[in-house]
Amino acid sequence: MFRHTNTNKKPLCLGLRGGIVVLLLGLFSSALHAETLRLGVLSFRPLAETVVRWQPLADYLGQQLNGRNVELIAANYEELESKIQAGALDFVLTNPAHYVMHRNQSGFSGPLATLLVEEHGYLLSQFGGVVLTLAEYRHINSLNDVPGRRIAAVSRGSLGGYQAQAMALLEEGAPLPNQADLLFTGMPHDRVIDALLTGEVEVGFVRSGVLESLLADGRLAPGQLRVLGSAQGQRYPLALSTELYPEWPLLVLPHVDAELSRLVAAALLLFEPDDQLAAAMGIRGFAVPADYSTVEALARSLRLPPFDQPPSFTWRDVWDKHRYWLVALLVCTGLLLLSTVLLLFYYRRALVAGTQTRQLNRALGESEALLRQITETIREVVWVRSPEQMLYINPAYEQVWGRTTESLYANPDSFIDSAHPDDRERIRQALMDDGVGKQPFDEVYRIVRPNGEVRWLHARSYPVVDDQGRVLRNAGTAVDISDMKGIEEELARSNADLEQFAYVVSHDLRQPLRMVNSYVQMLQRRLEGQLDGDTRQMMQFAIDGAARMDQMLLALLDYSRVGRKGQPIAELESQAVQDEALHFLQPLLEEAGAKLEIEGEWPALMASRDEMTRLLQNLIGNALKYRLAERPLVVQLRGERRGEHWRCCIVDNGIGIPPEQIPRLFQIFQRLHSREQYEGNGIGLALCRRIVERHGGSIWVESAGEGQGSCFCFELPLQGPDGLRAGVCCAVGG
Ligand code: ADP
Repeated sequence: MFRHTNTNKKPLCLGLRGGIVVLLLGLFSSALHAETLRLGVLSFRPLAETVVRWQPLADYLGQQLNGRNVELIAANYEELESKIQAGALDFVLTNPAHYVMHRNQSGFSGPLATLLVEEHGYLLSQFGGVVLTLAEYRHINSLNDVPGRRIAAVSRGSLGGYQAQAMALLEEGAPLPNQADLLFTGMPHDRVIDALLTGEVEVGFVRSGVLESLLADGRLAPGQLRVLGSAQGQRYPLALSTELYPEWPLLVLPHVDAELSRLVAAALLLFEPDDQLAAAMGIRGFAVPADYSTVEALARSLRLPPFDQPPSFTWRDVWDKHRYWLVALLVCTGLLLLSTVLLLFYYRRALVAGTQTRQLNRALGESEALLRQITETIREVVWVRSPEQMLYINPAYEQVWGRTTESLYANPDSFIDSAHPDDRERIRQALMDDGVGKQPFDEVYRIVRPNGEVRWLHARSYPVVDDQGRVLRNAGTAVDISDMKGIEEELARSNADLEQFAYVVSHDLRQPLRMVNSYVQMLQRRLEGQLDGDTRQMMQFAIDGAARMDQMLLALLDYSRVGRKGQPIAELESQAVQDEALHFLQPLLEEAGAKLEIEGEWPALMASRDEMTRLLQNLIGNALKYRLAERPLVVQLRGERRGEHWRCCIVDNGIGIPPEQIPRLFQIFQRLHSREQYEGNGIGLALCRRIVERHGGSIWVESAGEGQGSCFCFELPLQGPDGLRAGVCCAVGG
């Protein structure tokens, strides 16, 4: 804008203007043609009035374009629009909103020029809106106080009379006025002021300049009205509450030649403000094209055409406008997703864990069923008990004990009570050793069934302890070994019968044998001198045979006497046994010139004294007998304690034994050598085996072969045979 001053420069300006246009026309006359130019003007008043107002402009342009015919076409909005669409216009003078719409819809270029008007002595190409209230309304002080008040405005389509103010409210962050609060007065703007002054409304929207006009006319007293939200920083001479918006533009349609456009633009800009023509049109000429972006921004914000349709947003627009919200939304969505994934993960893990637990439980159930099936079908008794109570006992208990499992659950100590009176104390002691169930239990004993039947049992139990060694439970088994015991007893009886038989046979046979021997010897003496040599030799054979048979019967007698006629098993010193045996063998030792080496431990043990002496005597005697003539004999006696056992070995450096012959050495009457080579009857080692086995031990021989010497060993339990420890020894072997 600039201040208009009435000067005397007109002739000079006109001259300059005319000269330049003529010069341009001369230069570009080839571009001009005789076609009529069509200048459309938006008419919001009666068409004739508009034609009268703007005809001078058409005439002026025709004159400036070298007499070219310029037709003025005044049209209301719809007509003007249809003519634009039909290409029936070349230039258009219209309002800013109309221009902005075409710029966005039809690709119109910028306007050629913007109208210049005079307001109260100022030349202005921009205008704005004013928000007014009565000066006395102290409760309305800013634009933010406007919403909710009754408001008078010119019309919804008026840029200076409504839209500019609405835009200002939005920019202040205030909401748009409600429809119910609005009173549209229509033109002229004075009506708005009237509504305000009559108190019909509290706020009025008018175009800039209206206030000053009313003040100048004296229709308003100074200070009667107050301007709200005066636009700070705007270099504008009139009262203003809003952004500034440019005046009407003169547009050129896209089909118009660029050169012609330039000439028209030049002609427009050369229009003098104080020109008669300008005055006739109520304007002061044209200014260089103003910036219409404020109009466009307003149209966008208020959703005016062409922005009344929902805008097509690109992602970029969304990002630019709402980036902070978007980031926050993305973060929230991410967190939500993350927590969902985590939740799913843990849910799945729990599901898997649940499935695994179910599988484990099923496997456990199956294994338990299998275990139960086994324990409930076997004939052996299986039980588990805690120090206080019986936890489990299988049905075999009822078969073996002849009592119900319920009775045992009710009274776990009936386990001891049911033992045979002769065994009961021993069982109680075994169980009570170091407290109930703290030691493994392994006993053979008898029980008495309720019907009085006696059964033999082999019972074992083991403590189940925790980390601190506390006994949690005892698990045990019991096997009914009565049948085996029966067989054992039968065997023992049969052995006893056999021994008796052997004894009787060997004892009783000796008598007739001795008779045979005596009579043959008597015959030999009587017939002395009458017998020839052969007959005498035959008689001698008979006497020798009888003597050998007697020896064999004696040996058999000895064999059958083991365990029957000897001393009972009792504690003895092995050292004493060794001394006794060596005492008997002294003459033989001296005869053989043997070197005797005795080493190791010779402890006390439970054994039959004369049988042990016999055992050592036989083995040492064999070592002396089966020596090599060419090698000085060395005999070692080695004793060694091995846990609960004592091992004794008699080692010689004699003739040795072929390994393949070893298995038959301990059988009765088995010999590896002829009587001519070595005196003997083959019963010594069989006797040794019988003695050792009766004591619950074992005997064996090792030899590397002929000429390699032999090592005869036996091992005996220090506490005597099992039966002896169980107190039933005598019943079995005695
Ligand atoms: P006997 O000595 O009366 O023949 P034994 O039963 O004592 O009967 O021995 C059986 C056989 O074992 C003997 O005939 C002998 O061949 C062999 N034998 C026993 N002791 C030894 C030994 N120390 N060295 C080599 N052979 C032996």
